[in-house]
Amino acid sequence: MGVFEAIGTETHEEVLFGADRNSGLRTIIAIHDTSLGPALGGTRFYPYPDEASALRDVLRLAKGMTLKSAAAGLDLGGGKAVIIGDPAHIWSEDLIRSYGRTIDSLGGRYVTAEDVGTTVQDMVLVSQETPWVSGLPLESGGSGDPSPATARGVIAAFRAIGERLWGSTDLQGRRVAVQGIGKVGMDLVRRLTGLGVETVVADPNTEAVTFAVETYGSKAVLVDDIYDIDCDVFSPCALGASLNADTIPRLACAAIAGSANNQLAVDDDMASIVGRGILYAPDFVVNAGGVINIAVEADGYSLERAAAMVDRIYDNLTVVFETADRDGVNPQIAALRFAQARIDRAGGRRIRTRSTQQ
Ligand code: NAD
Repeated sequence: MGVFEAIGTETHEEVLFGADRNSGLRTIIAIHDTSLGPALGGTRFYPYPDEASALRDVLRLAKGMTLKSAAAGLDLGGGKAVIIGDPAHIWSEDLIRSYGRTIDSLGGRYVTAEDVGTTVQDMVLVSQETPWVSGLPLESGGSGDPSPATARGVIAAFRAIGERLWGSTDLQGRRVAVQGIGKVGMDLVRRLTGLGVETVVADPNTEAVTFAVETYGSKAVLVDDIYDIDCDVFSPCALGASLNADTIPRLACAAIAGSANNQLAVDDDMASIVGRGILYAPDFVVNAGGVINIAVEADGYSLERAAAMVDRIYDNLTVVFETADRDGVNPQIAALRFAQARIDRAGGRRIRTRSTQQ
């Protein structure tokens, strides 16, 4: 595999490949940028088809964390780690502890947390080998599950959208289509219902759908029909790349804001969204609630402090929209400039983005 070819023109500070023959651990840890502080990002434990896809994923996700933390105003850099393999088949305490020792070898330049395929309990095991771990359970002084904080941050983003489009942060009477009602999406539906917002939901998990219908009075639609729903905000809270050449022309919303990472399939999709007159709230600004919640853990976790910091997503997104107006660019470009400005102030490097994102 051409490792340096995969890294290509990217500017990651360090990429560590770790393996342990006894436990079967194969891990890649990418430290993208530490200008603002140690690189924080979760550990994805996933059955990648090959090592090249694992490397591509970790590089992409680590860079995303740099932008997310910078835009959120955190003194943290961006990093991410992957463990290659299916946790259902290869997970063992030995493997997780060996992974913890690999993190420890970086001396605090990378701080991990849970992500797809890893759990809070895994982080407890990691913490037995290294102090450079966050997202520990509430009962061990940690910040627990980040999903409610992420959902809270999405609400803050909705308020910024409300102010801009309708001149009010009051969301009562609005209609939101939520794609994916997992940990974040379901909590978002709960919060929206409490604010008097009508919700339309879609998820292949029929139990979750039934729960939302029965508990929150949501309207349920088939997974593929969510794009066509007439609504104020379309909220992608499932997987990445749901905004693409097939789905954008179908949208019947005034704005898009959700928790999913990497919502745009390709950068050029931003042009189609602008062309449709839809206001886009950049994902890495909107979904920072989880990382903000984890960052609070470093100084001794407090739910109130975390909530106040998460609510600042309203201000961050407002600045992004204002920057877009001032510079005559779309919100995605404005958000990248907003994040870069913080890195610049810390004397950091220029984060490379693809030409259409400039
Ligand atoms: P989750 O796995 O709990 O929920 C995802 C949900 O999406 C599941 O219920 C799944 O059935 C559903 N889904 C899958 N494919 C779908 C489709 N085609 N249409 C509709 N629903 C579909 O994950 P989560 O923690 O709720 O995270 C949701 C998204 O937000 C992910 O993209 C995640 O990376 C991102 N995110 C999460 C957090 C967090 O704090 N959990 C923080 C930042 C970003």
